[in-house]
Amino acid sequence: MSKTISIAIDGPSGAGKSTIARAAAEHFGYIYVDTGALYRTLGLGAVRNNIDISDTDAVKAFLPTVHVEMKHDKNEGQRMYLNGDDVTGEIRYPEISQAASKISAIPCVREHLLQMQRDMAEKYDVIMDGRDIGTVVLPDADIKIFLTASLDDRAKRRFDELVAKGMDVTYPGIYEDMKKRDEQDSSRAVAPLKPAEDAVLVDTSGNTLQESIDLICGVINNALEKARG
Ligand code: C5P
Repeated sequence: MSKTISIAIDGPSGAGKSTIARAAAEHFGYIYVDTGALYRTLGLGAVRNNIDISDTDAVKAFLPTVHVEMKHDKNEGQRMYLNGDDVTGEIRYPEISQAASKISAIPCVREHLLQMQRDMAEKYDVIMDGRDIGTVVLPDADIKIFLTASLDDRAKRRFDELVAKGMDVTYPGIYEDMKKRDEQDSSRAVAPLKPAEDAVLVDTSGNTLQESIDLICGVINNALEKARG
């Protein structure tokens, strides 16, 4: 095993990755790294600066002008900063989800954010969630999990989550948004969403959140025990 422990959790949006990964990280005393927040922050930056995300050259020229920072606080968890501005809440809006999905398909964007993610795993024991953690970012991760659930289940969970946050959203809107992002994330040429060959596949359809957390903690525990011999 490497000096630090790295656990990769990949899967489509709304599979419960972030909630489950956060809970598992707390359980094992690791740092939870939400890599989607990096793409969301860049997406927000592009929207704020009126950058046309379909114009790769414009995005490429934009990257050196923007400062994305990720900070981890024991109590507050991960917070995101765009040019020093705390954007942790703002990056969750549905229009920013779309911007994140689109900008993340551009190779220079992925390259730009790669080292930041690897540095985190180098320094700390992490549970990192995303789309390409097990395949591209941390191909040598100690444990790889691919977490999924039916589109219906995922859209329902995301809808409940956003309504609880007081956002003005509709179920059909969320469903269509998620379907579109699934297609974009799975069909892109670079780092498409797919399980690593050595990933453990976990389907959480029909599970309560607690059942999914217990399941993932069990998978991690078994793998850690096996690795320790
Ligand atoms: O995980 P989350 O839904 O917050 O991610 C937002 C978008 O960022 C996703 O739709 C996906 O396109 C992109 N993403 C990615 N690679 C990651 C994490 C997220 O391409 N490792």
